[in-house]
Amino acid sequence: MLIVMKPEATDAQVEEVLGVIRSLGFKPHPMPGATRTAIGVTGNQGAIDPAHFEMLAGVAEAIRVSKPYKLVGRDLKHDDTVVHVGDAKVGGLEPVIIAGPCAVESYEQTMSIAELVASTGVNLFRGGAFKPRTSPYSFQGLGEEGLKILRGVRERFGLRIVTEVLDTETADLVEEYADVMQIGARNMQNFSLLRRVGQARKPVMLKRGMSATLDELLLAAEYIMAEGNYNVILCERGVRTFADHTRNTLDLSIVPAVQHRSHLPIIVDPSHGTGKRHKVIPLARAAIAAGADGIMVEVHDHPEHALSDGPQALLPDMFRQLVNEVKAIHKVIAEANATLV
Ligand code: PEP
Ligand code: MN
Repeated sequence: MLIVMKPEATDAQVEEVLGVIRSLGFKPHPMPGATRTAIGVTGNQGAIDPAHFEMLAGVAEAIRVSKPYKLVGRDLKHDDTVVHVGDAKVGGLEPVIIAGPCAVESYEQTMSIAELVASTGVNLFRGGAFKPRTSPYSFQGLGEEGLKILRGVRERFGLRIVTEVLDTETADLVEEYADVMQIGARNMQNFSLLRRVGQARKPVMLKRGMSATLDELLLAAEYIMAEGNYNVILCERGVRTFADHTRNTLDLSIVPAVQHRSHLPIIVDPSHGTGKRHKVIPLARAAIAAGADGIMVEVHDHPEHALSDGPQALLPDMFRQLVNEVKAIHKVIAEANATLV
């Protein structure tokens, strides 16, 4: 159910509607918009009778939402969501870049890469302290020690930290240190973890599962939003196909598909999407040209010694080139659009 308030509805009338929703045992999700407030209703098993709301003062209409997702959809919120992370904005006019190593390996390695990232003007830093590894014998991350190193990166360079939360057991810890909590591809349908980050007060970056459809991705985001956390960033990172020239097949067509249905920002990860550094820049260019809200890439100054994902890590010079190209491509498209109006 979606309740659309009249443009002139007062705050008291909105409060009244929220109270009625709660008294019926449902959960209200008010979404103020540029011209009017819309209120999503969740928690109901079956259809709700619109008559409960249509007679209330300030209500324009009560609409049954037949789509499986409500809060992520544009029916509820037409305007694009902008997720604020410190001074950075994910969504909106400028593309973001999130960069850093696959994993936090040591204090020196992390600081050295952070210095490179900060020197380019990029303000979001990535690095895993808890790593989801295919083999139980591979490096699993430094855990809390890694989170402390990431905190040091924020203090020293002012970079905001994007780091993965692997399970509900360590969620409190990650929430304490992270600026953005990342849900990895392997956890996209870990519903208890999605609920947990939905209760967090930090934005969440949700990566697409390896074989997830658009609807499955949006429904995973819906789990997070249904708990009350509306700061969700989607991330395309490639899906499994028959193609064996690439680690995953980066599905850039999901960018406009998401934007058509959802107000949430979507970024692209061409590092995991390709698995090879020489493919990362071409696909980062394509992602920005396709309209993505930004990209996330892995960078390493000594990838030959990296404890995970060395082959896909950009070298420092490649990373500088990528930052310039992302800005240049975005500018060309923005200027071309500006001449249309
Ligand atoms: C990552 O970004 O560190 C990662 C493990 O990616 P994915 O979950 O997409 O495999
Ligand atoms: Mn990685």
